[in-house]
Amino acid sequence: MMDITENIRAVKGRIEQACERTGRDPDGITLVAVSKTFPAERIIEAAECGITDIGENRVQDAYDKYRVVSDRVRWHFIGHLQTNKVKKVLEFADLIHSVDSRHLAEEIDRRAQAIGKTAEVLVEVNTTGEESKFGVGPDEAVEFVKGLSDLRNIRITGLMTIGIFSYNPEDARECYVRLRGLRDELTECDLPNGEMKYLSMGMSNDFEVAIEEGANIIRVGTAIFGQR
Ligand SMILES: *Cc1c(COP(=O)(O)O)cnc(C)c1O
Repeated sequence: MMDITENIRAVKGRIEQACERTGRDPDGITLVAVSKTFPAERIIEAAECGITDIGENRVQDAYDKYRVVSDRVRWHFIGHLQTNKVKKVLEFADLIHSVDSRHLAEEIDRRAQAIGKTAEVLVEVNTTGEESKFGVGPDEAVEFVKGLSDLRNIRITGLMTIGIFSYNPEDARECYVRLRGLRDELTECDLPNGEMKYLSMGMSNDFEVAIEEGANIIRVGTAIFGQR
């Protein structure tokens, strides 16, 4: 049995140390606890230990857990999103991290408009160049985001990436530097339907590096809930 309380304390300690090294305020970093494959009971346990934000990567699983846990936490959708699942995701997600095509952005916009809301989204960038990964290419990212300016029922609040997976967390640094650079470029663009305030990057094994490079949303699964 994993001790979630102890794990969360350890993760918060790691966040504080990374912040100390770089002169950042830990309160400026949102810790998203990624509960994929774990049951709703674990989420409730995490919430009781002070977790406020939960990340899930499959729409149906997330929805089932949402129905148990409800709005006591904020819900982040972090997985690849198919257009036929958009309607459902909008029922519970507070932030969608994974917009990676115009087609998907249009569908989110259309469905959000239909229910009279504005959906908050991040654009996912494939900073590793691996074909197995989703996300828009770093070279296209700025034009891609600018091109979404006409969609009035989405609000683009930043960028997300999945760094290169390696036992050496330093290997992901390049990816995170790249994402920050794109964020800075886009900040200059002054988008009508967004503000580039979030960088969602860093997972269990490398979130310190991500924090050093400017992450303000980190997505941590294994280090909180244990091995999947
Ligand atoms: C699973 C997942 C995470 C968390 O990964 P850990 O290594 O378990 O911390 C973060 N981001 C995304 C997109 C994921 O799918």
